[in-house]
Amino acid sequence: MTLVASIAGTGLFFVQLDEHKAVEQEKWVTKVENALNAGKFERNGIEALGHEIAGSAQFINHIQDTGDFARRSFLESHINYVLKQDRVTQLGNVDIYSLDSMFTLTATSMKTDPFVASALSDDIYQTVFDAYILVSLGEEFCTTGYTYQALTGEIRYSFIGAYDPNLLPDDKQAMTRKERSMLVIDGPLTELNHLFTEIADYPYITLEFHQQPSEIQPKSEVYSKEINNEFIDGKVIKVFGPSIELELDILDDHYAAIKTLLAIKMLIYMVGVVLSLLLIIHLIVRSEVLKPINGLLRDIKKGGLELRYFKRAKGNDEVSTLKNAYIDSLSKVKFEAEFDSLTKLANRASFIRFVEQRSESYCNEHSYIVAWDVIDFRRVNDLHGQKIGDKALVTIAREVERFICMNQSESGCGCSDYSISRYSSNAFYALINAESELKIRALMANFETTLKNAVRIDGMPLSLDFAQSIFPLYGATHKGLWQRGTEAALNEAKQIKNQRPLVYFDARLMEEINRREEIEKILLTCCRSGEFELRYMPLIDAKTYKIASIEVLVRCPPLQAIGIGPEEFIPTAERANMIGDIDKWVMDSALKALYSLQEKVGYEGDISINISALELYNNEFIELLCGTCHKHGVSHDKVILEVTETSYVKSTRDTVAIISGLRDLGFRISLDDFGTGFTSIKQLLSYPVDELKVDKSFVERVGTDGSEEKMLNSIISLGHNCDAKVVGEGVETGYQCRYLTELGCDYLQGYWFSKPLTYQEFSEFYTKERLVGIKSKISELTIIKT
Ligand code: C2E
Ligand code: CA
Ligand code: CA
Repeated sequence: MTLVASIAGTGLFFVQLDEHKAVEQEKWVTKVENALNAGKFERNGIEALGHEIAGSAQFINHIQDTGDFARRSFLESHINYVLKQDRVTQLGNVDIYSLDSMFTLTATSMKTDPFVASALSDDIYQTVFDAYILVSLGEEFCTTGYTYQALTGEIRYSFIGAYDPNLLPDDKQAMTRKERSMLVIDGPLTELNHLFTEIADYPYITLEFHQQPSEIQPKSEVYSKEINNEFIDGKVIKVFGPSIELELDILDDHYAAIKTLLAIKMLIYMVGVVLSLLLIIHLIVRSEVLKPINGLLRDIKKGGLELRYFKRAKGNDEVSTLKNAYIDSLSKVKFEAEFDSLTKLANRASFIRFVEQRSESYCNEHSYIVAWDVIDFRRVNDLHGQKIGDKALVTIAREVERFICMNQSESGCGCSDYSISRYSSNAFYALINAESELKIRALMANFETTLKNAVRIDGMPLSLDFAQSIFPLYGATHKGLWQRGTEAALNEAKQIKNQRPLVYFDARLMEEINRREEIEKILLTCCRSGEFELRYMPLIDAKTYKIASIEVLVRCPPLQAIGIGPEEFIPTAERANMIGDIDKWVMDSALKALYSLQEKVGYEGDISINISALELYNNEFIELLCGTCHKHGVSHDKVILEVTETSYVKSTRDTVAIISGLRDLGFRISLDDFGTGFTSIKQLLSYPVDELKVDKSFVERVGTDGSEEKMLNSIISLGHNCDAKVVGEGVETGYQCRYLTELGCDYLQGYWFSKPLTYQEFSEFYTKERLVGIKSKISELTIIKT
């Protein structure tokens, strides 16, 4: 912009300078022309004076006898008289000379004789002399005028006439007569001289006077010559007058001052233009860019991430595009933050928010939270692959959506985007309105069949099982209860076998939740303080009656005090994500105790540690276990890890890999509570296992139920077929002991041998009872088998 303004400014500077030059030239040319014009009148005046003197009686008398002093004296006084007249004094310093035919000055207005040779070095002398020669030679001569520049620099005009004393001046014959007197009238051209004086004040303007080739021309031609005649030769202007030429030259330096002035003017102009342009640009940017951007920023500040504050812009300008792009990305971000990308249903967080808002503002006895959890969904992924798994979830999502929206519109309620959610990977929660408990139960029951058959592979239904729950939202007094309630109801539903797995949240579950919360609270403080204890329960070798292993069982004294044992608090800890800490504590304490038992009482057996199924999904578990063994100097082959059969059956490829990894490292795996998880032989064969622990419920019924023997028999041979040792758990009587031994159990465990003991108790038990006590117990037994 500055460059453009500079170029424009420079251009304008030159245009203005040229204009100024033209005006200045014209001014001076006019002055010259005016002076020349004035000169014309002055010359006329001088010539008229010549005619007046020449025509006077005094002059005629004088030239008739130039030697007569009286006549000369009359002439001179006449001349002086004429010269004093106003019209003549206006002409300036006019000189008048009269010469006789011998070129002798006979009368003059001056004191000195200008025609004494070389007294007058001006051109006028030569001109008068040339005229005299012409006359004396009898050449034709009338009168002549002559403009010249005197040595003093003055421009003057001389009018020279030759007069016959006897003939009239107009007489043709007089023109060639030799005996004639001459009259010279010589006066300044004052206007021209003033001009010269004026120009002298301008150092860079020159005016030169030039004589034009002067031929002696007839009087008439002199007057006919045009003076308004100019000619520009380069920078020099030539102005012509009658037989003169004036050369006017205005040097460039004359314009120095105006140039500076113009430059300053242009600079100011340029700065002005630049500033104005900047101002205009600023105003345009302000109104066209900044204002809309500020508006957008204000909207963004006010609306933040709330989409509802923004209206799409209609224009095509950049700011509108920017605004729409912001709205689009906000919608996208919002969608990603609030919705599940796979099923496009609300995610857990936005569903929780939605339900919380609804419970606070608008909730009545007809509002329910309904939930579906796909039982064993992991197996779908394992068996059919992730893609099919995803497809199945999308299908379920669409079915649930249809079910909710249909029922909502039937009950006259709207179906919000947030009222159906994928709450966790394979659980779907929704808020629904229904007339009554009966109605919602019926709806859920009907929907179950649809849902079960919705997911198909190659046209065949996958027959998925769904744990379902209903939570009445109305009256749920404390915040988040619906979450815990639904979770508890779903968990319970998962346990239901051979019946519809649908649980309605009621007072009983409420109580359970409260109890669980209490347990959680106590567990949390115990986890922090490590307030746990261990009990040790021996496993007896059925052949040698030696203690083959000790199972470590955890106790939590504060919970023990209110009658809560591990059977109850371990599942709670699993749900509340505290089991990892407990297992870690147990592992550390158990291995430490093992080492100490080995050192102090020479214990040679193994140690059996119960491991939560959740550890089978924890990749760091192996590392932790190895680290702990290393820490306490326990070799891996001394450690048996007990995993419940149910959790083992649910295992996936990942958990099988972890178990195989553990076995490769030398650890042994025992299937706890065997017989409760309905493991098929085929399944069992596919899992690597070292030991089966027959659940105590089987042992309990020994002697009461005839079919038990068969069952136990087949479990034991199943274990042996799989190269696994079989442990009989819960042996409370000698009868049971004998019975299991005879069936071929490898190890026995139960209160009949020992209750869970403290470290101290076990140390004593081990040293005292070692073989003797147990053997003697066994020997008391009678053979029961027939
Ligand atoms: P489990 O692994 O099946 O443990 C055996 C349970 O049966 C123990 O109960 C034990 O005291 C009891 N028991 C053993 N023999 C007899 C008997 O002859 N008669 C009767 N009536 N009971 C007998 P406990 O200690 O209450 O443990 C309950 C469950 O808690 C355990 O079942 C186990 O699943 C879990 N658990 C215990 N300690 C731990 C632990 O350290 N970590 C983990 N993850 N779970 C543990
Ligand atoms: Ca166990
Ligand atoms: Ca058990």
